[in-house]
Amino acid sequence: MEYTIIKEAVVHEDDDPPLKQNDVLSSTSHITGNVVCSIAATAGKTKVFTSKSNMFRKRFFPDATIVQWNDWHWQLAHRITTLEQLTRFLKPTLEERQALEDCEGKFPFSITPYYLSLVDLANPMDPLRKTIVPTIGEAVVSYGEKPDPLDEDRTSPVPGIVHRYPDRVLFLTTSFCSVYCRYCTRSRMVGGHTEALEFHWHRAIDYIRKTETIRDVVISGGDPLTLADDKIEWLLKQLSDIPHVEMIRIGTKVPMVLPQRITTELVNRIKKYKPLYLSVHCTHPNEITAESKRAFDRLADSGIIMGSQTVLLRGVNDDPAVMTALMHRLLQVRVRPYYLFQCDPIVGSAHFRTSVDTGKEIIRSMRGFTSGYAIPQYVIDTPGGGGKVPILPEYEVGKDADNLYLRNYEDKVFAYPDQAVKEAIV
Ligand code: SF4
Repeated sequence: MEYTIIKEAVVHEDDDPPLKQNDVLSSTSHITGNVVCSIAATAGKTKVFTSKSNMFRKRFFPDATIVQWNDWHWQLAHRITTLEQLTRFLKPTLEERQALEDCEGKFPFSITPYYLSLVDLANPMDPLRKTIVPTIGEAVVSYGEKPDPLDEDRTSPVPGIVHRYPDRVLFLTTSFCSVYCRYCTRSRMVGGHTEALEFHWHRAIDYIRKTETIRDVVISGGDPLTLADDKIEWLLKQLSDIPHVEMIRIGTKVPMVLPQRITTELVNRIKKYKPLYLSVHCTHPNEITAESKRAFDRLADSGIIMGSQTVLLRGVNDDPAVMTALMHRLLQVRVRPYYLFQCDPIVGSAHFRTSVDTGKEIIRSMRGFTSGYAIPQYVIDTPGGGGKVPILPEYEVGKDADNLYLRNYEDKVFAYPDQAVKEAIV
């Protein structure tokens, strides 16, 4: 069925019209009744990205104007960072309350008002809530968990650089994020040491300049798109001026948690530099709203190429229907599904981690049943700094002197006349 996006319900003052059940394109166990990001099919012909954030603003921030709400500085200034603030919006469970009381000095807690508006406040099982509100599971240390499971600190030749593969580096530019994901691989270092990282920028760029094998730089953090325009542009210019740097990637969750940050001015500044790719961290279809769509439109219209990164999380997106809905919605906003990560074994992550078989089953359930473009590559970032390893369901089921035998999406086996097999036995 062909759909056309006919409007964005972003900045108008009126509450969105209620969606009829039949209008909701995808309805699964994890997509909440409070459908904040529903893609509605109107009369079976068109669909509209809608938003409930306006209702949330009127209820909890009645003095804030729509202009203020859509200002990313306002969103940052009104982040929810304490238990006391959170209780103004929802009733924490005992596990959440205890975790928040113990939070001080540990992995920080922060939610933008916009992102909280995507949460079904009455539902403790809301998928986005699980990813941003601490629970006591974070205090449980399980088998194999480490603060730095990927050994990034060991593969850091200078502060702020992780150099694991020959031709690319990770450049950690900030430790600040507008929202702290409870499963963050860098939970050991995010939250509040940004000045220290900025102090190392010159040395890090110098390392990249002197290491001619580096052709690809991933600017990450923390979330680099929370930096000021001037600083982002400065970083891009420095890197673009290095002849052997062929491409730059920015890893960010901003379009999902703070889409107001993707201003026309920011996009005009960043599109001028070397081929720029955005790796968008996304978790659940409820994140794709009218607001995030507007941000993606700005980025895509400027020629910035976008791919997604999703962490497989128990009780959040470990359901084939939810994962498929997320990937479909990403494609609709011009983000190509790229990576599905097995959750890294950081300390206190057991409540988030699924088995690897669950991930394989999700990929198996997608392959053949939806466009290949919608299927991300499922990978494990190997503990100890071994790098990413792709994980696939078992499609090769055997070989003999003539053929390789392959299982298709319908569980039927087909023979491929593999010349290499023939050659091997001659
Ligand atoms: S946005 Fe990225 S760096 Fe920031 S807390 Fe989430 S996973 Fe960690």
